[in-house]
Amino acid sequence: MSSIRTRFAPSPTGFLHLGSARTALYNWAYARRHGGCFVLRIEDTDLERSTRESEETVLEGLEWLGLDWDEGPFRQTERREAHEQAIAGLLAQEKAYRCQCSREDLEARKEADLARGGSGLYDGRCRDLGLGPDCGTHVVRLRVPQEGMLGWEDAVFGPSGQDAGQLGDAIIRRGDGTPLYNLAVVVDDIEMGITHVIRGADHHPNTSLQVALYQALDAPLPIFAHLPLIVGESGKKLSKRRDNVSIQDFRDEGHLPEALTNWLVRLGWSHGDDEIFSLDEIAQLFSLESVGRSSARADPAKLAWLDQHYIKQLPGDDLFARVRPHLERVKGGPVEDDESLRKLLDLLRERSRTLVEMAELAHWKLSDTLEYDEKAVKKHLRPAALPALLALGQGMRKLPDWTVAELEKTFEETAAALGDVKLGKLAQPVRVAVTGGPNSPGIFETLEILGREPTLERLKHAVTVVEARAESAGSD
Ligand code: GLU
Repeated sequence: MSSIRTRFAPSPTGFLHLGSARTALYNWAYARRHGGCFVLRIEDTDLERSTRESEETVLEGLEWLGLDWDEGPFRQTERREAHEQAIAGLLAQEKAYRCQCSREDLEARKEADLARGGSGLYDGRCRDLGLGPDCGTHVVRLRVPQEGMLGWEDAVFGPSGQDAGQLGDAIIRRGDGTPLYNLAVVVDDIEMGITHVIRGADHHPNTSLQVALYQALDAPLPIFAHLPLIVGESGKKLSKRRDNVSIQDFRDEGHLPEALTNWLVRLGWSHGDDEIFSLDEIAQLFSLESVGRSSARADPAKLAWLDQHYIKQLPGDDLFARVRPHLERVKGGPVEDDESLRKLLDLLRERSRTLVEMAELAHWKLSDTLEYDEKAVKKHLRPAALPALLALGQGMRKLPDWTVAELEKTFEETAAALGDVKLGKLAQPVRVAVTGGPNSPGIFETLEILGREPTLERLKHAVTVVEARAESAGSD
């Protein structure tokens, strides 16, 4: 293993978000590309918002995407001692100090300073008071340098940073003794030997303070790489309301994990004009140099295209195993593995953008009771279709073999007998009769897959539907 170490550090406060999944993917890919180590750290220090349920959701999402980690999951709450020790060390070296200013005082002084045209930053009142541990309720502040640059060379955004004077002495431990996010992250990244901090650009503004912490803790800076914002179709920041942003939702909608990782990797990274990347290829090709700075648009049409690409390629067993839960949902019960169903799934590859869509397109094969599409019935099961349905039913009943070739022959003969009607004219009423709707694979394949008995039953039923329509039209 090389010395490269990356990490994914989700806060378990909800589902696995699209943006977080991309962060995880890029960290995973960078570690894999360099034979390094990918660490998983759960940042659960916000006790009010963190839940075990969310943690499980995040892990499940990563597993589903195929992003395996080498170390962890570590929990930040279990690392309190390390955070405490780091704070104690900073206090002992006077790189941090205790501050007793009350919230109200701070607020009043800040306002007065702003009114005078000042920066509103902490005025350093407790900076040189040398308050000891017995001073009563207090926070701990980092003694941030008052001049110079707190900068870094971002692997994506280039030279970045802030004037130290603009930062102010940030709080690193709250009055209740809990460490603040920036302190915990930096201590953990140092102790876990993280060499590359790859994360969303929303963390770019935090990084100057983190640089100050690295300096105070006498640790070398890792490489920071901030990833461009992902925007929705509208071009605006992804929003839960407008856009699909939960990895679990993508899974439940029948998207393939390989399509999703392929889609995600292209949200910010490119490799020439290539669009198709398996997870293995991502692990071989990913580089930070090719991550762009401009916002990446999450285009659902692109995802659908990728899904279809991967659906077409899946080996039959794999396809069946993956679509089975969706088939069972559509059917509302267990689905047996049988050859004709597999044949149908094969035919549906070309027509399905997701596994859910595939399962829905297979509905007519799953259940004895058919759901009819009203519009299709109106259009195709008309009195004019009656002779064809009757003749075809008769022809098919006599077939010695229920095969595509035999069925095709019956259709041709019936078309000729009915006065040379076009095959399409016969096919569409039959399709609606046996599948309930106007879309299915080729009609002969459809009938072969459905089987003799169900086909004849459904044709018979369709005849009664048409007759009833003819009657009600007649009585109008
Ligand atoms: N826990 C932070 C988050 O979920 C990430 C911190 C980091 O990557 O430095 O946004």
